[in-house]
Amino acid sequence: MRYIRPVTSPLDADWSTRHSVLTTARRTAALVNALGGGPSGTGTSIAPAPQAVAEVLRAYGETGPVDLTPRDVDGMRAAADLLREVFAADSADAAAHVLNRLLGAHTGALRLTSHGGSTPWHPHLDRDDDAPWPEWFLASSCMALAVLLWDHQRPPGRVCASGACPDVFISRGSGPERRYCSRRCATRERVAAHRRRG
Ligand SMILES: [Zn+2]
Repeated sequence: MRYIRPVTSPLDADWSTRHSVLTTARRTAALVNALGGGPSGTGTSIAPAPQAVAEVLRAYGETGPVDLTPRDVDGMRAAADLLREVFAADSADAAAHVLNRLLGAHTGALRLTSHGGSTPWHPHLDRDDDAPWPEWFLASSCMALAVLLWDHQRPPGRVCASGACPDVFISRGSGPERRYCSRRCATRERVAAHRRRG
């Protein structure tokens, strides 16, 4: 008989949060930004080194070996371009249509996995636990963005409103909608608007 493992170590304290929908969605935004591409699509920027992409994965809780090849990174860049369309959608309806298109064309059936007991049970849309990185990235991102849209009935993310910044971000949160990806972009745009008025 198997028992639920008691929470004993500090690592276990974030057992759930490390794998939460919001963490997954934020990881999607961070990966889309790290993988580059931008509004005009692939081929316009240089692919990041596999180590740089692996660092983003580790920052969002990946604990296993991250054996990314340049080919995996190319596939992930293609997935990032597709996901960028979800962030570019300006209404819940538009974002849902993009997500439905991606779910129909690029993901498998809904299943649950605990990766052999090493994580909490969570849903996956890729074909199996050993799916290639690009397939895993697109499927896990579609899942998290779809759940956020379901939960908030709003687009799950946005593209930074600064014309000088191609970054995407998760727009969840209470209070007024954020327009910029970061404080840095918000400040730069405020200063620019002030100069234009002056
Ligand atoms: Zn920005």
